[in-house]
Amino acid sequence: MIPRLKPFAGKEELFALLERVPNAVEKFEEKFAAAFGTSLAIAFPYGRSALWAFLKAMRIEDAEVVQPAYTCSVVGHATVLSGNRPRFVDCNLRDYNMDLDLLERAITGRTRMVIPTHIFGYPMDVNRVDQIVRDAENRYGQRIYIIQDCAHSFDAEWQGESVIKAGDGALFGLGISKQITSIFGGMLTTDDEDIAANLIAFRDENFSRKSLFEIIRRALYLSASLAAFENTMYGLTYWLQERTSLLKGLTDAYHLDQKIHFPPDHDHSLSSLEARVGLRQLEKYAFIKRRRREIAGFYFEKLKVPSGWVLPPRVEGATYSHFAIRVPDRDLVLEVSAREGVQLGQLIEYSMPHLPAYRQYGEGQEFPNSLLCSQSMINLPIHPSLNEKDMVKITDVINRIAQR
Ligand SMILES: *Cc1c(COP(=O)(O)O)cnc(C)c1O
Repeated sequence: MIPRLKPFAGKEELFALLERVPNAVEKFEEKFAAAFGTSLAIAFPYGRSALWAFLKAMRIEDAEVVQPAYTCSVVGHATVLSGNRPRFVDCNLRDYNMDLDLLERAITGRTRMVIPTHIFGYPMDVNRVDQIVRDAENRYGQRIYIIQDCAHSFDAEWQGESVIKAGDGALFGLGISKQITSIFGGMLTTDDEDIAANLIAFRDENFSRKSLFEIIRRALYLSASLAAFENTMYGLTYWLQERTSLLKGLTDAYHLDQKIHFPPDHDHSLSSLEARVGLRQLEKYAFIKRRRREIAGFYFEKLKVPSGWVLPPRVEGATYSHFAIRVPDRDLVLEVSAREGVQLGQLIEYSMPHLPAYRQYGEGQEFPNSLLCSQSMINLPIHPSLNEKDMVKITDVINRIAQR
């Protein structure tokens, strides 16, 4: 079975669990900022904690946070739990990012933040977002922050410039399924010293250290994940996943979509152990990015699908966290392909304003594209450890299913 995702980590990261690195968290922040060309990077236990802390630290309350309808539920959770309201914008059907015409209309006098999410690694037109938000600021006489959600994209480029540099800051998730990982973890980068000072002060006052027990659990989690994703083991992992609930929480069940909630350790700081793993992963990032682009290029060349199937667009600067395809009958495609030895993902399988917990925030509005995507999207394995033979097998299986 070819797994739908696989962290690109191995003995270096396991070795990092035992290493001694003085001030590892600070070092991770410095190296992260340097790697992505920002002046500051601030570490958090999760990406969602960074967003929540930003809203708290900047004293944004009882305001609207404009965000995609088609995105990871943790963005909505952070918004509501910080005492604010999400205002959803439907996606377009080309690259699945927020529809910019709709964004323009979604901003109101109560908007204090806009979150452009570069979904699946597809860069948004950050210049147009900036223009729309600056115009709205002038219209309403109100500061509106732009926080790029780069949890998928990392440093995708829009017209040759990294999207990370746009707006007031950028948000990263560093969980096990992201481009690089610090086991769990998140980062917020910014070039704005005032924002950074507020955010660091808030974090240092409100976040507590992890207990030894929590740290040991993290180390075990990484070791178990790496073992579970090993080629020789993955058949068993897959079987356990499908047939039992033993592995719930190992890959992606660490957030709930149906309920607005944060994990109890959302405010327990990133530990030195996690930072050491993150440091090792940073060294691999350039390779990971190049490899994902190569695999995407291979898929674009080899996939032959009939009308009714929609391949991703070929966009300059994309980093392909996912190779997302819309299909007419998702359950059938998932099932047949698993039978043939290729596990597909079904990200993102919900539309935020259609979730019961969020329905009130989308009342009176329609989000047809987000709903359609949530019901029809699959994604192909695109992790850097795929070899040539895996890639051929994946395209063969997909082409065969598509032409049935
Ligand atoms: C993963 C992710 C985040 C952050 O997730 P955490 O699990 O809180 O680190 C934010 N936005 C998107 C789109 C994501 O996929």
